[in-house]
Amino acid sequence: MTTTAPTPPAGVPDRIRHYIGGRFTDSVDGGTFDVLEPVGNTTYVTAASGQKADIDAAVAAARTAFEEGPWARALPRERSRVLHRIADLVESREDELAEMETFDSGLPISQSRGQARRAAENFRFFADLIVAQADDAYKVPGRQINYVNRKPIGVAGLITPWNTPFMLESWKLAPSIATGNSVVLKPAEFTPLSAQLWPGIFEEAGLPEGVFNLVNGFGESAGDALVKHPDVPLISFTGESRTGQIIFGNAAPYLKGLSMELGGKSPAVVFADADLDTAIDATIFGVFSLNGERCTAGSRILVQRPVYDEFVERYAAQASRVRVGLPHDPETEVGALVHPEHYEKVMSYVELGKSEGRLVAGGGRPEGFDEGNFVAPTVFADVPPTARIFREEIFGPVVAITPFDTDEEAVALANDTDYGLAAYIWTSDLRRAHTVAQAVESGMVWLNSNNVRDLRTPFGGVKASGLGHEGGYRSIDFYTDQQAVHINLGEVHNPVFGRDTSA
Ligand code: NAD
Repeated sequence: MTTTAPTPPAGVPDRIRHYIGGRFTDSVDGGTFDVLEPVGNTTYVTAASGQKADIDAAVAAARTAFEEGPWARALPRERSRVLHRIADLVESREDELAEMETFDSGLPISQSRGQARRAAENFRFFADLIVAQADDAYKVPGRQINYVNRKPIGVAGLITPWNTPFMLESWKLAPSIATGNSVVLKPAEFTPLSAQLWPGIFEEAGLPEGVFNLVNGFGESAGDALVKHPDVPLISFTGESRTGQIIFGNAAPYLKGLSMELGGKSPAVVFADADLDTAIDATIFGVFSLNGERCTAGSRILVQRPVYDEFVERYAAQASRVRVGLPHDPETEVGALVHPEHYEKVMSYVELGKSEGRLVAGGGRPEGFDEGNFVAPTVFADVPPTARIFREEIFGPVVAITPFDTDEEAVALANDTDYGLAAYIWTSDLRRAHTVAQAVESGMVWLNSNNVRDLRTPFGGVKASGLGHEGGYRSIDFYTDQQAVHINLGEVHNPVFGRDTSA
């Protein structure tokens, strides 16, 4: 089968523009870039390419809205109502949203639908959280009361990647807006389409003009200008660890608040006493869902020796059955990778893996897909911890399996990476489960579970996987200042310097 370019879904605009101060605009210098769809790699639209002048305009609009508009001063209940309406609108537009996301990113449509529902849930969650929000107050009896005056900070810069564009944008938009800030969003240049839906949703929900601003463009131009803008005190970034380092350096002279959600190479540790059927299903899903373009993918599977051969054989057989298909087909389990550049990167790791491990499934293009960014689910067994495919983030449907003998060895292998985002542990021994979970260097651990998140829990990585945690009230903390107000009661406790003793 040759994969010809699909027809754009209804609602794709004739061009992708910025949205600044309540109006869609082109770039000040008129610059654009081409946007490809990943099935035929054809240009289906051009997008405005933001530069410093566009970021300046967006930040100015956001700042005006913050300083003069009603949003920063609105009661939590008023903001909450708007956020619930945003959630309702996202839910009601699930079909349109999922189709656009799938067309632009290559994610399987069934999974884009799930991401759309999660985006709505992010708004609903923070809508509820801000009305339930309480702040600290401390009393020193008879002497002092201290309370926390929580305030929005100003203009937040939100920079997002392409792997689940709309959902990850919602992950930052919901808490930043809920807390009264204004924002400038810079979405990933590979996937700018679904972000074009935000302005309509926000307008219909009643978000005041200028609170939300959108500038499209490349990281090195639009993203860089946002990071270096003196009137943007906060940057929330999700993307590669290397980009995180650059942003960290660029933001340093301005002493900005930074939240960094970065890359991963997460281990899934399968002990011999695990429920093997469930562990295999979960570890297949854990690395092949979202086309493997998932920061928390369990892309290194460590398996205890007594079940190693059986695991590898069954895993390889199941991986070979994973349905690769056109992204908009509801039966598809793995679609097309986002962009030819990323496809080349993933394919280079597939080739490298053939010399670093034992190929047991996949290993190239899936049969019948001669064009587009399709990669067969690929499994390498017997991968040594020195291998690059064991250590480096591939961000595609490629997994490395490595045997281990003891619990200590499992922990050492799990931690033998620069990253520390997630870990998955499969065992029926309660003590082992907790002991290993606590010894693993990762921001999040799932025991006998896939990646199922409770939105109240902290989200984030350690080591090269990130800095700071968002999730639940931690996101509220990131997007607000907590000013401590101290009130004296009774007599003023005041050592007097320079007392006049002449009288
Ligand atoms: P990327 O770092 O290339 O780009 C992310 C965003 O940063 C894009 O919008 C890009 O334009 C922008 N950018 C690039 N250079 C910049 C610069 N110098 N200044 C400002 N902005 C700049 O990442 P990607 O390839 O789009 O996304 C994949 C990566 O994201 C993977 O490493 C993945 O693990 C990570 N990720 C992490 C999480 C998490 O929560 N930890 C979630 C999803 C994805």
